[in-house]
Amino acid sequence: MAEKTDIKSVLREELVGQLDKWREPAYRADQVLRWVYEKQAGSFEEMSNLPANLRQKLAETFELNAVHALKTRHATDTTEKFLFQLRDHSLVETVLIPATPGLTSSSDRHTVCVSTQVGCAFACKFCASGLEGVKRNLSAAEIVDQVWHVRKLTGEKVNNIVVMGMGEPLANYDNLMRALKVLNAPWGLGIGARKITVSTVGLVPRIKQLAEEPMQLRLAVSLHGATDEVRERIMPVNKKYPLKELLAACDFYVNTKRRMMTFEYILIADVNDSLEQAQKLGGIAKRLRAKVNLIPYNPVEGLLWRRPERDRCKMFQHVLMQHGVASTLRTEKGTDINAACGQLRLQHEKANEQTPVS
Ligand code: SF4
Repeated sequence: MAEKTDIKSVLREELVGQLDKWREPAYRADQVLRWVYEKQAGSFEEMSNLPANLRQKLAETFELNAVHALKTRHATDTTEKFLFQLRDHSLVETVLIPATPGLTSSSDRHTVCVSTQVGCAFACKFCASGLEGVKRNLSAAEIVDQVWHVRKLTGEKVNNIVVMGMGEPLANYDNLMRALKVLNAPWGLGIGARKITVSTVGLVPRIKQLAEEPMQLRLAVSLHGATDEVRERIMPVNKKYPLKELLAACDFYVNTKRRMMTFEYILIADVNDSLEQAQKLGGIAKRLRAKVNLIPYNPVEGLLWRRPERDRCKMFQHVLMQHGVASTLRTEKGTDINAACGQLRLQHEKANEQTPVS
Protein backbone atom coordinates (compact mmCIF):
# COMPACT_ATOMS: atom_id res chain seq x y z
CA MET A 1 0.00 0.00 0.00
CA ALA A 2 1.25 3.48 -0.87
CA GLU A 3 2.49 5.56 2.06
CA LYS A 4 0.03 8.14 3.29
CA THR A 5 0.73 11.88 2.99
CA ASP A 6 0.61 14.08 6.07
CA ILE A 7 -2.28 16.45 5.50
CA LYS A 8 -0.61 19.19 7.54
CA SER A 9 2.15 19.47 4.95
CA VAL A 10 -0.32 19.91 2.09
CA LEU A 11 -1.02 23.36 0.62
CA ARG A 12 -4.57 24.34 -0.31
CA GLU A 13 -3.92 24.22 -4.08
CA GLU A 14 -2.46 20.71 -3.74
CA LEU A 15 -5.53 19.52 -1.85
CA VAL A 16 -7.79 21.07 -4.49
CA GLY A 17 -5.76 19.14 -7.12
CA GLN A 18 -6.16 15.86 -5.23
CA LEU A 19 -9.91 16.38 -4.78
CA ASP A 20 -10.24 17.26 -8.45
CA LYS A 21 -8.75 13.84 -9.30
CA TRP A 22 -11.57 12.34 -7.24
CA ARG A 23 -14.05 14.58 -9.10
CA GLU A 24 -14.82 16.57 -5.97
CA PRO A 25 -15.43 20.32 -6.16
CA ALA A 26 -12.86 22.80 -4.80
CA TYR A 27 -15.10 23.91 -1.93
CA ARG A 28 -14.60 20.48 -0.39
CA ALA A 29 -10.92 21.41 0.13
CA ASP A 30 -12.00 24.40 2.20
CA GLN A 31 -14.33 22.19 4.21
CA VAL A 32 -11.50 19.74 4.92
CA LEU A 33 -9.08 22.54 5.85
CA ARG A 34 -11.65 24.11 8.16
CA TRP A 35 -11.99 20.77 9.94
CA VAL A 36 -8.24 20.37 10.24
CA TYR A 37 -7.23 23.87 11.34
CA GLU A 38 -10.30 25.62 12.71
CA LYS A 39 -12.21 22.80 14.34
CA GLN A 40 -9.01 20.84 15.09
CA ALA A 41 -10.55 17.51 14.15
CA GLY A 42 -8.79 14.46 15.53
CA SER A 43 -9.99 12.14 12.75
CA PHE A 44 -11.45 12.27 9.25
CA GLU A 45 -14.49 10.48 10.65
CA GLU A 46 -15.41 13.64 12.59
CA MET A 47 -15.77 15.67 9.37
CA SER A 48 -19.51 15.29 9.43
CA ASN A 49 -20.43 17.58 6.54
CA LEU A 50 -18.36 15.49 4.09
CA PRO A 51 -19.86 12.46 2.31
CA ALA A 52 -18.88 9.15 3.93
CA ASN A 53 -17.04 7.90 0.83
CA LEU A 54 -14.93 11.07 0.71
CA ARG A 55 -14.05 10.73 4.40
CA GLN A 56 -12.94 7.19 3.69
CA LYS A 57 -10.79 8.23 0.72
CA LEU A 58 -9.22 10.99 2.80
CA ALA A 59 -8.43 8.54 5.60
CA GLU A 60 -6.87 6.12 3.10
CA THR A 61 -4.74 8.86 1.51
CA PHE A 62 -3.74 11.16 4.35
CA GLU A 63 -2.41 11.01 7.91
CA LEU A 64 -3.89 13.57 10.25
CA ASN A 65 -1.31 13.52 13.05
CA ALA A 66 2.43 13.68 12.53
CA VAL A 67 3.36 14.08 16.19
CA HIS A 68 2.06 12.64 19.43
CA ALA A 69 2.29 14.46 22.77
CA LEU A 70 4.24 12.41 25.32
CA LYS A 71 4.26 14.84 28.20
CA THR A 72 4.06 18.45 29.24
CA ARG A 73 5.78 20.29 32.04
CA HIS A 74 4.66 23.52 33.60
CA ALA A 75 7.09 26.02 35.03
CA THR A 76 6.09 28.36 37.83
CA ASP A 77 6.04 31.31 35.42
CA THR A 78 3.43 29.56 33.22
CA THR A 79 5.91 28.63 30.52
CA GLU A 80 4.87 25.23 29.30
CA LYS A 81 7.08 22.67 27.66
CA PHE A 82 5.93 19.80 25.46
CA LEU A 83 7.72 16.65 24.46
CA PHE A 84 6.42 15.23 21.19
CA GLN A 85 7.08 11.82 19.76
CA LEU A 86 7.31 11.36 15.99
CA ARG A 87 6.24 8.25 14.12
CA ASP A 88 9.81 6.90 14.09
CA HIS A 89 9.86 7.38 17.91
CA SER A 90 12.22 10.35 17.72
CA LEU A 91 11.52 13.09 20.24
CA VAL A 92 11.28 16.85 19.80
CA GLU A 93 10.55 19.70 22.17
CA THR A 94 8.19 22.63 21.82
CA VAL A 95 7.66 25.47 24.28
CA LEU A 96 4.65 27.72 24.86
CA ILE A 97 5.78 31.07 26.23
CA PRO A 98 3.21 33.61 27.37
CA ALA A 99 4.09 37.32 26.84
CA THR A 100 7.79 37.20 26.21
CA PRO A 101 9.83 40.36 26.69
CA GLY A 102 12.93 39.92 24.61
CA LEU A 103 11.29 37.89 21.91
CA THR A 104 8.12 39.80 21.24
CA SER A 105 6.44 42.94 22.49
CA SER A 106 4.81 42.62 25.88
CA SER A 107 1.30 42.91 24.46
CA ASP A 108 1.78 39.68 22.53
CA ARG A 109 0.12 36.85 24.36
CA HIS A 110 1.30 33.42 23.28
CA THR A 111 4.47 32.47 21.51
CA VAL A 112 5.28 28.92 20.47
CA CYS A 113 8.91 27.95 20.02
CA VAL A 114 9.15 25.11 17.51
CA SER A 115 11.86 22.59 16.68
CA THR A 116 12.95 21.90 13.10
CA GLN A 117 15.34 18.95 13.39
CA VAL A 118 15.88 15.92 15.61
CA GLY A 119 19.15 16.85 17.28
CA CYS A 120 21.43 19.40 15.64
CA ALA A 121 24.67 19.34 13.68
CA PHE A 122 25.96 22.74 14.77
CA ALA A 123 27.20 21.90 18.25
CA CYS A 124 26.94 25.37 19.79
CA LYS A 125 28.81 25.00 23.05
CA PHE A 126 25.97 26.26 25.28
CA CYS A 127 23.31 23.95 23.93
CA ALA A 128 22.15 20.46 24.87
CA SER A 129 20.55 19.81 21.46
CA GLY A 130 23.89 19.70 19.70
CA LEU A 131 25.46 17.18 22.10
CA GLU A 132 24.61 14.13 20.03
CA GLY A 133 24.62 15.50 16.49
CA VAL A 134 21.72 15.63 14.07
CA LYS A 135 19.47 12.63 13.43
CA ARG A 136 17.18 14.02 10.74
CA ASN A 137 15.18 16.96 9.46
CA LEU A 138 11.58 17.33 10.56
CA SER A 139 8.98 17.20 7.81
CA ALA A 140 6.79 20.26 7.20
CA ALA A 141 3.88 18.45 8.89
CA GLU A 142 5.96 17.67 11.97
CA ILE A 143 6.77 21.38 12.30
CA VAL A 144 3.15 22.51 11.77
CA ASP A 145 1.80 19.82 14.06
CA GLN A 146 3.81 21.06 17.06
CA VAL A 147 1.89 24.35 16.93
CA TRP A 148 -1.39 22.58 16.15
CA HIS A 149 -1.07 20.28 19.18
CA VAL A 150 0.04 23.04 21.56
CA ARG A 151 -3.05 25.00 20.55
CA LYS A 152 -5.30 21.99 20.96
CA LEU A 153 -3.79 20.82 24.27
CA THR A 154 -3.85 24.25 25.90
CA GLY A 155 -6.86 25.82 24.20
CA GLU A 156 -4.73 28.96 23.74
CA LYS A 157 -4.65 31.06 20.61
CA VAL A 158 -1.11 31.14 19.27
CA ASN A 159 -0.15 34.53 17.90
CA ASN A 160 3.62 34.29 17.56
CA ILE A 161 6.00 31.64 16.36
CA VAL A 162 9.70 31.61 17.07
CA VAL A 163 11.64 29.00 15.14
CA MET A 164 14.29 28.61 17.82
CA GLY A 165 13.81 25.11 19.20
CA MET A 166 15.92 22.07 18.51
CA GLY A 167 17.84 22.15 15.23
CA GLU A 168 19.08 24.80 12.83
CA PRO A 169 15.99 25.97 10.93
CA LEU A 170 17.81 27.10 7.80
CA ALA A 171 19.53 23.71 7.49
CA ASN A 172 16.04 22.30 6.85
CA TYR A 173 15.09 25.10 4.50
CA ASP A 174 12.50 23.59 2.14
CA ASN A 175 10.47 21.83 4.84
CA LEU A 176 10.62 24.93 7.00
CA MET A 177 9.33 27.18 4.24
CA ARG A 178 6.47 24.81 3.45
CA ALA A 179 5.55 24.63 7.16
CA LEU A 180 5.63 28.42 7.46
CA LYS A 181 3.29 28.72 4.47
CA VAL A 182 0.77 26.48 6.26
CA LEU A 183 1.20 28.30 9.58
CA ASN A 184 0.75 31.65 7.84
CA ALA A 185 -2.08 30.81 5.40
CA PRO A 186 -5.58 32.11 6.15
CA TRP A 187 -6.85 28.56 5.53
CA GLY A 188 -4.12 27.19 7.84
CA LEU A 189 -3.21 28.52 11.27
CA GLY A 190 -3.44 32.15 10.12
CA ILE A 191 -0.34 33.44 11.98
CA GLY A 192 0.94 36.66 10.42
CA ALA A 193 4.37 36.43 8.75
CA ARG A 194 5.49 39.44 10.77
CA LYS A 195 4.75 37.42 13.89
CA ILE A 196 7.05 34.61 12.79
CA THR A 197 10.74 34.82 13.73
CA VAL A 198 13.26 32.53 12.10
CA SER A 199 16.44 32.10 14.06
CA THR A 200 19.75 30.96 12.61
CA VAL A 201 23.32 30.32 13.67
CA GLY A 202 24.26 32.25 10.54
CA LEU A 203 24.06 30.09 7.41
CA VAL A 204 25.09 32.82 5.01
CA PRO A 205 23.70 31.47 1.69
CA ARG A 206 20.38 30.61 3.34
CA ILE A 207 20.01 34.05 4.92
CA LYS A 208 20.32 35.53 1.44
CA GLN A 209 17.75 33.05 0.13
CA LEU A 210 15.38 33.91 2.97
CA ALA A 211 15.72 37.60 2.09
CA GLU A 212 14.25 36.84 -1.30
CA GLU A 213 11.18 34.97 -0.04
CA PRO A 214 7.94 36.90 -0.41
CA MET A 215 6.95 36.33 3.25
CA GLN A 216 7.91 39.20 5.59
CA LEU A 217 9.48 36.97 8.20
CA ARG A 218 11.55 38.32 11.06
CA LEU A 219 15.19 37.27 11.15
CA ALA A 220 17.06 36.57 14.39
CA VAL A 221 20.75 35.73 14.20
CA SER A 222 22.42 33.96 17.12
CA LEU A 223 25.57 36.02 17.46
CA HIS A 224 26.89 35.26 20.96
CA GLY A 225 30.26 36.80 20.17
CA ALA A 226 31.21 40.14 18.61
CA THR A 227 34.63 39.06 17.35
CA ASP A 228 35.60 35.91 15.44
CA GLU A 229 37.84 34.80 18.28
CA VAL A 230 35.11 34.87 20.93
CA ARG A 231 32.35 33.64 18.64
CA GLU A 232 34.41 30.66 17.51
CA ARG A 233 34.81 29.52 21.12
CA ILE A 234 31.04 29.29 21.41
CA MET A 235 29.86 28.49 17.89
CA PRO A 236 31.93 26.20 15.64
CA VAL A 237 29.88 27.42 12.62
CA ASN A 238 31.85 30.66 12.77
CA LYS A 239 34.80 28.87 11.15
CA LYS A 240 32.72 28.24 8.05
CA TYR A 241 30.90 31.58 8.03
CA PRO A 242 33.05 34.16 9.83
CA LEU A 243 31.58 37.39 11.11
CA LYS A 244 32.49 39.46 8.07
CA GLU A 245 30.49 37.19 5.75
CA LEU A 246 27.66 36.79 8.24
CA LEU A 247 27.27 40.53 8.74
CA ALA A 248 27.31 41.10 4.97
CA ALA A 249 24.43 38.60 4.67
CA CYS A 250 22.58 40.44 7.46
CA ASP A 251 23.09 43.70 5.55
CA PHE A 252 21.60 42.07 2.48
CA TYR A 253 18.59 40.82 4.47
CA VAL A 254 17.89 44.16 6.11
CA ASN A 255 18.24 46.09 2.84
CA THR A 256 16.21 43.64 0.75
CA LYS A 257 13.40 43.24 3.25
CA ARG A 258 13.50 46.75 4.69
CA ARG A 259 12.91 45.16 8.05
CA MET A 260 14.66 45.31 11.38
CA MET A 261 16.49 42.22 12.47
CA THR A 262 17.50 40.91 15.88
CA PHE A 263 20.70 39.56 17.33
CA GLU A 264 20.44 36.93 20.05
CA TYR A 265 23.32 37.11 22.50
CA ILE A 266 23.62 34.61 25.35
CA LEU A 267 25.71 36.17 28.10
CA ILE A 268 28.21 33.65 29.49
CA ALA A 269 30.41 34.65 32.44
CA ASP A 270 34.04 35.32 31.45
CA VAL A 271 33.47 34.02 27.92
CA ASN A 272 31.62 36.76 26.02
CA ASP A 273 30.41 39.22 28.69
CA SER A 274 33.34 41.69 28.63
CA LEU A 275 32.64 45.35 28.08
CA GLU A 276 34.92 45.19 25.06
CA GLN A 277 32.55 42.66 23.47
CA ALA A 278 29.66 44.94 24.41
CA GLN A 279 31.37 47.87 22.62
CA LYS A 280 31.91 45.78 19.49
CA LEU A 281 28.37 44.39 19.57
CA GLY A 282 27.02 47.91 20.01
CA GLY A 283 28.91 49.01 16.89
CA ILE A 284 27.64 46.06 14.82
CA ALA A 285 24.01 46.43 15.94
CA LYS A 286 24.02 50.18 15.45
CA ARG A 287 25.26 49.91 11.87
CA LEU A 288 22.59 47.31 11.04
CA ARG A 289 19.93 49.09 13.12
CA ALA A 290 19.38 45.72 14.78
CA LYS A 291 17.79 45.02 18.12
CA VAL A 292 19.73 42.88 20.61
CA ASN A 293 18.21 40.27 22.91
CA LEU A 294 20.52 39.57 25.81
CA ILE A 295 19.87 36.19 27.40
CA PRO A 296 21.69 35.24 30.59
CA TYR A 297 23.13 31.75 30.12
CA ASN A 298 20.98 28.87 31.33
CA PRO A 299 23.28 26.28 32.90
CA VAL A 300 23.31 22.92 31.08
CA GLU A 301 24.08 19.70 32.89
CA GLY A 302 27.52 18.52 31.85
CA LEU A 303 28.78 21.96 30.72
CA LEU A 304 31.00 24.14 32.87
CA TRP A 305 29.95 27.65 31.86
CA ARG A 306 28.25 30.02 34.28
CA ARG A 307 25.65 32.74 34.12
CA PRO A 308 27.07 36.24 34.79
CA GLU A 309 25.88 38.22 37.81
CA ARG A 310 22.83 40.39 37.14
CA ASP A 311 24.89 43.61 37.54
CA ARG A 312 27.34 42.43 34.91
CA CYS A 313 24.47 41.80 32.48
CA LYS A 314 23.10 45.27 33.19
CA MET A 315 26.49 46.88 32.56
CA PHE A 316 26.73 45.03 29.25
CA GLN A 317 23.29 46.29 28.32
CA HIS A 318 24.23 49.83 29.36
CA VAL A 319 27.05 49.86 26.80
CA LEU A 320 24.57 48.92 24.09
CA MET A 321 22.32 51.72 25.25
CA GLN A 322 25.21 54.17 24.92
CA HIS A 323 25.44 53.15 21.25
CA GLY A 324 21.73 53.91 20.85
CA VAL A 325 20.96 50.21 20.32
CA ALA A 326 17.58 48.87 21.46
CA SER A 327 18.03 45.82 23.64
CA THR A 328 16.23 43.62 26.12
CA LEU A 329 17.72 41.70 28.97
CA ARG A 330 15.61 38.62 29.25
CA THR A 331 14.23 37.45 32.51
CA GLU A 332 14.82 33.81 31.82
CA LYS A 333 11.57 31.91 31.43
CA GLY A 334 11.24 28.27 32.17
CA THR A 335 14.56 27.77 33.96
CA ASP A 336 12.93 25.34 36.34
CA ILE A 337 11.67 23.14 33.53
CA ASN A 338 14.95 23.02 31.67
CA ALA A 339 13.80 25.39 28.97
CA ALA A 340 17.24 25.52 27.40
CA CYS A 341 16.65 23.66 24.19
CA GLY A 342 17.25 19.96 24.16
CA GLN A 343 17.37 19.31 27.89
CA LEU A 344 13.92 17.80 28.38
CA ARG A 345 14.47 15.44 25.47
CA LEU A 346 17.85 14.30 26.75
CA GLN A 347 16.50 13.72 30.24
CA HIS A 348 13.57 11.80 28.85
CA GLU A 349 15.83 9.60 26.77
CA LYS A 350 17.94 8.88 29.84
CA ALA A 351 14.93 7.99 31.96
CA ASN A 352 13.16 6.35 29.01
CA GLU A 353 9.80 6.99 30.55
CA GLN A 354 6.64 7.48 28.51
CA THR A 355 3.69 9.37 29.93
CA PRO A 356 1.14 10.01 27.18
CA VAL A 357 -0.91 13.19 27.59
CA SER A 358 -3.21 12.74 24.63
S1 SF4 B 1 21.72 26.45 19.63
FE1 SF4 B 1 20.47 25.80 17.91
S2 SF4 B 1 21.96 25.64 16.22
FE2 SF4 B 1 23.17 25.65 18.11
S3 SF4 B 1 23.45 23.46 18.65
FE3 SF4 B 1 21.60 24.22 19.72
S4 SF4 B 1 19.92 23.69 18.37
FE4 SF4 B 1 21.80 23.62 17.16
